[in-house]
Amino acid sequence: MNRITIAIDGYSSCGKSTLAKQLAKELGYTFVDSGAMYRAVALYAMQNGCFNHHELNENCLVNKLDEIAIQFTFNASRGASDILLNGKNVENEIRQMDVSNKVSQVAAVKEVRKKLVAIQQEMGRNKGVVMDGRDIGTVVFPHAELKIFMTARPEVRAARRYAELETKGEPSTLEEVRKNLETRDNIDTTRKEDPLKQAEDAIVLDNSGLSQDEQLSLALNWVSKLT
Ligand code: C5P
Repeated sequence: MNRITIAIDGYSSCGKSTLAKQLAKELGYTFVDSGAMYRAVALYAMQNGCFNHHELNENCLVNKLDEIAIQFTFNASRGASDILLNGKNVENEIRQMDVSNKVSQVAAVKEVRKKLVAIQQEMGRNKGVVMDGRDIGTVVFPHAELKIFMTARPEVRAARRYAELETKGEPSTLEEVRKNLETRDNIDTTRKEDPLKQAEDAIVLDNSGLSQDEQLSLALNWVSKLT
C-alpha cells in the first residue's frame, strides 16, 4: 500500500483531532495536531509579555519568534504526541480557556504562520501523515491525496467541547465555550493570512449525527480508494 498525505480542516471543535488520531493509529501514520503548535506560540506570547490584557502586541511576538522551539514527543499513555515548548511539556496548559481565547489572534500573524507552516511541511515530507488544522489542505499540503473538511452544528460542537473540558476539570461554562468557538471561527475565516476555507477538492464531512466509529469507517473507506 502506498502511503499518502491526509489533510483534515474545519471549524473549531468539530472533532478533527479525534478523527486524525484514529486514522493515524489505524494506518500506522504520524498524527500532527497543528492547532497545538499555534496554541504553544500563543502560550509563549502570554508568558513573555506580548499581551496587554486581551490584545496582542504583534511586534513583541514577531521579535521573539526565534526564541520559540516547538517539538512533539510521543506519550504512550495517550497514544498521541504531547507538544513541547522550548523543551517543556505544555500539552495540558495549551488547552486552557485563556489560551483558547487568545490563540486566533496569534494565528493571524503572518510571521507566525510562516514559521509553523515550514515545520509542518517538513514533518510531512515523507508522507504517511495525518495533519489537522485550518489551512492544511489549502496551504500546508495543497497536493494531499485526501482532504477532508469537517463541520458540525454549532450547538453540537459547543456541547462536545464543554464536556471535554469538564472531564479534564477545566473551569468554564457552556456559554463561554460557545462564544469562544464563535469568535475563533470568525477570526479564522476572515483573517488575511491563510484563512480557514474548504479546499476545492476536499470532501465535506458533517459529523453532527455521526458516532466516532461511523466517521472513522467513512474516512477509512475514502483512504482505501486511494492506496
Ligand atoms: O485546532 P485548534 O482548535 O486547537 O486550533 C487552535 C487555533 O489555532 C485555531 O482556532 C486557529 O486560530 C489556529 N490554527 C490555525 N491554523 C491551523 C491550526 C490552528 O490558524 N492549521
